[in-house]
Amino acid sequence: MNRRLAQGLTGDAGDRARPAARVVVALGANLGERARTLAEALIELDRLPLTRVAGAAEPIESVAITLAGPDEDAPAYLNTVALLDTSLAPSVLLEYLHAIEARHGRARREGEARWQSRTLDLDIVAYGDVRSDDPALTLPHPRAAERDFVLGPWLAVDPDAVLPGRGRVADLLAALRAEETS
Ligand code: AMP
Repeated sequence: MNRRLAQGLTGDAGDRARPAARVVVALGANLGERARTLAEALIELDRLPLTRVAGAAEPIESVAITLAGPDEDAPAYLNTVALLDTSLAPSVLLEYLHAIEARHGRARREGEARWQSRTLDLDIVAYGDVRSDDPALTLPHPRAAERDFVLGPWLAVDPDAVLPGRGRVADLLAALRAEETS
Protein backbone atom coordinates (compact mmCIF):
# COMPACT_ATOMS: atom_id res chain seq x y z
CA MET A 1 0.00 0.00 0.00
CA ASN A 2 1.34 3.39 -0.96
CA ARG A 3 0.92 5.33 2.29
CA ARG A 4 1.32 8.78 0.75
CA LEU A 5 -1.45 8.26 -1.80
CA ALA A 6 -3.73 6.65 0.77
CA GLN A 7 -3.14 9.34 3.36
CA GLY A 8 -3.54 12.23 0.96
CA LEU A 9 -1.02 14.85 0.03
CA THR A 10 -2.34 17.08 2.78
CA GLY A 11 -2.48 14.21 5.26
CA ASP A 12 -6.28 14.05 5.28
CA ALA A 13 -6.35 10.42 6.41
CA GLY A 14 -4.37 10.87 9.58
CA ASP A 15 -1.26 8.74 9.90
CA ARG A 16 -2.73 5.35 9.04
CA ALA A 17 -3.25 3.94 5.54
CA ARG A 18 -6.97 3.73 4.81
CA PRO A 19 -8.98 0.65 3.76
CA ALA A 20 -10.81 0.77 0.43
CA ALA A 21 -13.84 3.06 0.36
CA ARG A 22 -16.81 2.86 -1.99
CA VAL A 23 -16.76 6.00 -4.09
CA VAL A 24 -19.34 7.23 -6.59
CA VAL A 25 -18.01 9.23 -9.54
CA ALA A 26 -20.23 11.06 -12.05
CA LEU A 27 -18.91 11.33 -15.60
CA GLY A 28 -20.28 13.71 -18.23
CA ALA A 29 -19.27 14.81 -21.73
CA ASN A 30 -21.00 17.12 -24.20
CA LEU A 31 -18.28 17.79 -26.76
CA GLY A 32 -16.34 15.53 -29.11
CA GLU A 33 -16.71 11.76 -29.25
CA ARG A 34 -18.73 11.58 -26.06
CA ALA A 35 -19.22 7.79 -25.79
CA ARG A 36 -15.57 7.10 -26.56
CA THR A 37 -14.41 9.69 -24.03
CA LEU A 38 -16.55 8.13 -21.28
CA ALA A 39 -15.35 4.62 -22.14
CA GLU A 40 -11.71 5.75 -22.06
CA ALA A 41 -12.21 7.61 -18.80
CA LEU A 42 -13.63 4.45 -17.19
CA ILE A 43 -10.52 2.52 -18.27
CA GLU A 44 -8.32 5.29 -16.86
CA LEU A 45 -10.22 5.22 -13.56
CA ASP A 46 -9.72 1.47 -13.33
CA ARG A 47 -5.98 1.95 -13.90
CA LEU A 48 -5.54 4.42 -11.05
CA PRO A 49 -3.35 3.20 -8.20
CA LEU A 50 -5.17 1.48 -5.30
CA THR A 51 -8.41 1.67 -7.28
CA ARG A 52 -10.78 -0.57 -9.24
CA VAL A 53 -14.03 0.20 -11.05
CA ALA A 54 -16.68 -2.03 -9.47
CA GLY A 55 -19.46 -1.01 -11.84
CA ALA A 56 -20.61 1.58 -14.34
CA ALA A 57 -24.09 2.44 -15.61
CA GLU A 58 -25.19 2.52 -19.23
CA PRO A 59 -24.66 6.15 -20.39
CA ILE A 60 -27.75 8.33 -20.76
CA GLU A 61 -28.36 11.57 -22.70
CA SER A 62 -29.30 14.73 -20.84
CA VAL A 63 -29.90 18.40 -21.57
CA ALA A 64 -26.97 20.71 -20.74
CA ILE A 65 -27.41 22.63 -17.48
CA THR A 66 -26.00 26.16 -17.45
CA LEU A 67 -26.00 28.81 -14.76
CA ALA A 68 -29.31 30.05 -16.26
CA GLY A 69 -30.86 26.55 -16.16
CA PRO A 70 -31.38 23.81 -18.78
CA ASP A 71 -30.17 24.85 -22.26
CA GLU A 72 -31.77 22.90 -25.12
CA ASP A 73 -29.52 24.72 -27.63
CA ALA A 74 -26.26 23.58 -26.06
CA PRO A 75 -24.85 20.19 -27.13
CA ALA A 76 -26.52 17.43 -25.08
CA TYR A 77 -24.55 15.54 -22.44
CA LEU A 78 -23.83 11.87 -22.22
CA ASN A 79 -23.68 10.94 -18.52
CA THR A 80 -22.82 7.91 -16.52
CA VAL A 81 -21.92 6.98 -12.96
CA ALA A 82 -19.09 4.67 -11.89
CA LEU A 83 -18.64 2.87 -8.59
CA LEU A 84 -15.03 2.76 -7.45
CA ASP A 85 -13.35 0.88 -4.66
CA THR A 86 -10.31 2.91 -3.75
CA SER A 87 -7.80 3.46 -1.00
CA LEU A 88 -6.75 6.80 -2.50
CA ALA A 89 -7.46 9.67 -0.15
CA PRO A 90 -10.29 11.97 -1.35
CA SER A 91 -7.98 14.87 -2.24
CA VAL A 92 -5.61 12.58 -4.14
CA LEU A 93 -8.47 10.97 -6.04
CA LEU A 94 -9.73 14.44 -7.03
CA GLU A 95 -6.29 15.33 -8.38
CA TYR A 96 -6.29 12.16 -10.47
CA LEU A 97 -9.76 13.04 -11.79
CA HIS A 98 -8.52 16.47 -12.81
CA ALA A 99 -5.57 14.82 -14.60
CA ILE A 100 -7.94 12.52 -16.51
CA GLU A 101 -10.10 15.53 -17.47
CA ALA A 102 -6.98 17.38 -18.66
CA ARG A 103 -5.89 14.41 -20.78
CA HIS A 104 -9.24 14.65 -22.55
CA GLY A 105 -8.69 18.29 -23.37
CA ARG A 106 -10.70 19.85 -20.55
CA ALA A 107 -9.41 23.30 -19.64
CA ARG A 108 -10.25 24.09 -16.01
CA ARG A 109 -12.19 27.34 -15.56
CA GLU A 110 -13.36 29.34 -12.62
CA GLY A 111 -16.63 31.19 -11.93
CA GLU A 112 -19.43 31.20 -14.48
CA ALA A 113 -17.24 29.64 -17.20
CA ARG A 114 -17.31 26.43 -15.10
CA TRP A 115 -20.79 25.82 -16.51
CA GLN A 116 -19.67 25.81 -20.15
CA SER A 117 -19.49 22.78 -22.46
CA ARG A 118 -16.73 20.31 -21.75
CA THR A 119 -15.15 17.23 -23.28
CA LEU A 120 -15.13 15.52 -19.90
CA ASP A 121 -16.39 16.39 -16.42
CA LEU A 122 -15.65 14.13 -13.46
CA ASP A 123 -17.20 14.76 -10.05
CA ILE A 124 -16.97 12.84 -6.79
CA VAL A 125 -20.62 12.33 -5.86
CA ALA A 126 -19.85 10.50 -2.63
CA TYR A 127 -16.78 9.11 -0.91
CA GLY A 128 -18.06 6.48 1.54
CA ASP A 129 -19.85 8.34 4.33
CA VAL A 130 -17.37 11.22 4.33
CA ARG A 131 -18.88 14.69 4.81
CA SER A 132 -16.91 17.79 3.91
CA ASP A 133 -17.88 21.42 3.28
CA ASP A 134 -14.48 22.32 1.86
CA PRO A 135 -15.19 24.24 -1.40
CA ALA A 136 -12.25 22.41 -3.01
CA LEU A 137 -13.94 19.07 -2.31
CA THR A 138 -17.48 19.14 -0.96
CA LEU A 139 -18.77 15.70 0.05
CA PRO A 140 -21.26 14.47 -0.84
CA HIS A 141 -21.40 16.62 -3.99
CA PRO A 142 -23.77 19.50 -3.10
CA ARG A 143 -25.87 19.27 -6.27
CA ALA A 144 -26.10 15.47 -6.59
CA ALA A 145 -29.61 15.26 -5.11
CA GLU A 146 -30.96 17.72 -7.73
CA ARG A 147 -29.50 15.93 -10.74
CA ASP A 148 -31.57 13.31 -12.50
CA PHE A 149 -28.55 12.49 -14.68
CA VAL A 150 -26.56 11.53 -11.56
CA LEU A 151 -29.28 9.81 -9.52
CA GLY A 152 -30.66 7.81 -12.49
CA PRO A 153 -27.40 6.11 -13.54
CA TRP A 154 -26.38 5.70 -9.88
CA LEU A 155 -29.62 3.87 -9.08
CA ALA A 156 -29.21 1.73 -12.22
CA VAL A 157 -25.81 0.50 -11.06
CA ASP A 158 -26.70 0.26 -7.34
CA PRO A 159 -30.42 -0.18 -6.52
CA ASP A 160 -29.68 0.14 -2.76
CA ALA A 161 -27.65 3.34 -3.08
CA VAL A 162 -27.85 5.93 -0.31
CA LEU A 163 -26.68 9.55 -0.61
CA PRO A 164 -25.06 10.26 2.78
CA GLY A 165 -27.13 12.75 4.76
CA ARG A 166 -29.94 12.80 2.16
CA GLY A 167 -31.37 9.29 2.03
CA ARG A 168 -32.06 6.55 -0.49
CA VAL A 169 -31.27 7.44 -4.08
CA ALA A 170 -34.48 5.71 -5.22
CA ASP A 171 -36.53 8.05 -3.01
CA LEU A 172 -34.57 11.17 -4.03
CA LEU A 173 -35.03 10.35 -7.71
CA ALA A 174 -38.77 9.70 -7.28
CA ALA A 175 -39.16 13.02 -5.44
CA LEU A 176 -37.17 14.89 -8.10
CA ARG A 177 -39.23 13.43 -10.94
CA ALA A 178 -42.48 14.17 -9.10
CA GLU A 179 -41.33 17.78 -8.71
CA GLU A 180 -40.38 18.00 -12.41
CA THR A 181 -43.83 16.82 -13.54
CA SER A 182 -45.85 18.92 -11.07
P1 AMP B 1 -16.54 21.54 -12.13
O1 AMP B 1 -15.97 22.56 -13.04
O2 AMP B 1 -18.02 21.52 -12.04
O3 AMP B 1 -15.96 20.15 -12.37
O4 AMP B 1 -16.08 21.95 -10.66
C1 AMP B 1 -14.79 21.69 -10.29
C2 AMP B 1 -14.45 22.43 -9.00
O5 AMP B 1 -15.33 22.01 -7.97
C3 AMP B 1 -13.04 22.09 -8.63
O6 AMP B 1 -12.39 23.28 -8.31
C4 AMP B 1 -13.19 21.21 -7.40
O7 AMP B 1 -12.16 21.47 -6.48
C5 AMP B 1 -14.54 21.60 -6.86
N1 AMP B 1 -15.27 20.54 -6.17
C6 AMP B 1 -15.88 20.68 -4.96
N2 AMP B 1 -16.47 19.54 -4.60
C7 AMP B 1 -16.26 18.64 -5.60
C8 AMP B 1 -16.64 17.28 -5.80
N3 AMP B 1 -17.37 16.61 -4.90
N4 AMP B 1 -16.24 16.67 -6.96
C9 AMP B 1 -15.53 17.36 -7.89
N5 AMP B 1 -15.14 18.64 -7.75
C10 AMP B 1 -15.49 19.28 -6.63
